[in-house]
Amino acid sequence: MAVERVAVVGGGLAGFAAGLALKAAGAHVELFERSRILGGRATSFEIDGVEVDNGQHVFLACCTEFINFAQSVGMAGQLHLQERFDATILARSGKAGRLRTAALPAPLHLIGSFASYSHLGLAGKLRIARALAAALLGKSDPSETFDAWLAHNGQGAQERAAFWNPFFIPALNAPFDRVGASDATFVLKTAFLRDAGAARFGFSRVPLAHLTQAAAKQLDAVHLSTPVLTVPPNDARVTLSLSKGETDFDAVVLAVPPRQAERILGDPRRYGVTNLDKYDPYPIIDVHLWHDGGSIGRDFVAALESPLQWIFEKEPGYLCCSFSAADEYLRQPTAELESLAWREVQTFLPALKDVKLVRSAVTRNPEATWLPRVGSKRTQQRTNHPAIAIAGSWTETGWPDTMESAVRSGNLAAAVLLSPIGHVRRATSFDASSG
Ligand SMILES: Cc1cc2nc3c(=O)[nH]c(=O)nc-3n(C[C@H](O)[C@H](O)[C@H](O)COP(=O)(O)OP(=O)(O)OC[C@H]3O[C@@H](n4cnc5c(N)ncnc54)[C@H](O)[C@@H]3O)c2cc1C
Repeated sequence: MAVERVAVVGGGLAGFAAGLALKAAGAHVELFERSRILGGRATSFEIDGVEVDNGQHVFLACCTEFINFAQSVGMAGQLHLQERFDATILARSGKAGRLRTAALPAPLHLIGSFASYSHLGLAGKLRIARALAAALLGKSDPSETFDAWLAHNGQGAQERAAFWNPFFIPALNAPFDRVGASDATFVLKTAFLRDAGAARFGFSRVPLAHLTQAAAKQLDAVHLSTPVLTVPPNDARVTLSLSKGETDFDAVVLAVPPRQAERILGDPRRYGVTNLDKYDPYPIIDVHLWHDGGSIGRDFVAALESPLQWIFEKEPGYLCCSFSAADEYLRQPTAELESLAWREVQTFLPALKDVKLVRSAVTRNPEATWLPRVGSKRTQQRTNHPAIAIAGSWTETGWPDTMESAVRSGNLAAAVLLSPIGHVRRATSFDASSG
């Protein structure tokens, strides 16, 4: 049967990546989003007349499908990417360390700056070098936690505080005893050990929702404030059940978080969709601080042994401080979080000691990322119904829950529907895997 009309449920990066891939293959694509704004977990909105991100988002140069996505919606020029990996790491004492790559092939590109990294002694550096070699050469056990992996690779409190915590808590957004060692070593290898340019930091210079707003212009219709309740199959097609009635499509991509996917499918096992109940959400809190002290002279710094791992300068006088894996701070009152963050900023950046805090705001995301329980497999994009595919940063893409994983999952879900046993007729010779 020729299939030309596809619905995408969910207006985050995964939904738009799927939508654009299907559109490029010649389908008529309509997207349904329950919120009144686009972007899902990578979004922005106005607070007191200023458009702020729901939280600071960083990507790395190895996030190639995310970068391609931005390119395909005409936003690549709004992304900033470092020319080489360069990060300043500050201690509470005021001591600054710096890690940056040299113009050498991986993994030699890290050695020079690692040797002079001031937050670790020689013994700690050697222990970390041994763990990096183990990550590169060893195989990880799917049932091992990252915490156990660090312990069995000899990483003590000092190595954790100076290296693993500032980079891997934000990258994985979970306590190390809740993350699989394989996720962590994947990040380590992909970002730091295989390609000298891979770990370069990037971020959007414009509010995040602009990315999906640009993508929306390429689809046939985007229905905001339109939650999809269920998607009962209708022979080989699907019916979308909305609060305002029903509408039929030839196929659907469900690009929503795992709990919503479970609710929409009703009985996921009927569609061969597994493990939706094996995921847990992890929070991120961002504290936005506007001060009258001008620029700190850097795009971002890491703060060692602080609840806020990174401080980003969005523009002179506007800092965004992110608390990853922030469970214990989630229920803390806004005013307390704001004063905690400002105290920490003034400690790590003493130049701001006598500066006035003009305004502040807190964004809380209790379900910022989704992680399968250690040992559980991530959900596949393919279902056993040819007209239903699943997408989302939390699905099986090889990557942890990130913007890169979201875009990859959307491209994979589109490829499922475009494949011979999927449903959508190709109108062009599009290769869905290239986004
Ligand atoms: C504060 C914060 C900081 C982060 N930092 C980073 C970072 O630095 N780097 C990085 O790579 N990633 C980061 N992430 C993670 C990243 O944002 C996500 O991995 C990614 O945006 C997820 O995209 P998605 O499309 O899979 O899901 P989502 O963005 O969650 O999109 C799903 C969409 O589905 C909609 N929806 C749900 N149910 C329904 C329904 N029934 N009907 C219709 N629509 C529905 C939702 O409203 C949502 O818009 C961060 C996340 C947060 C919250």
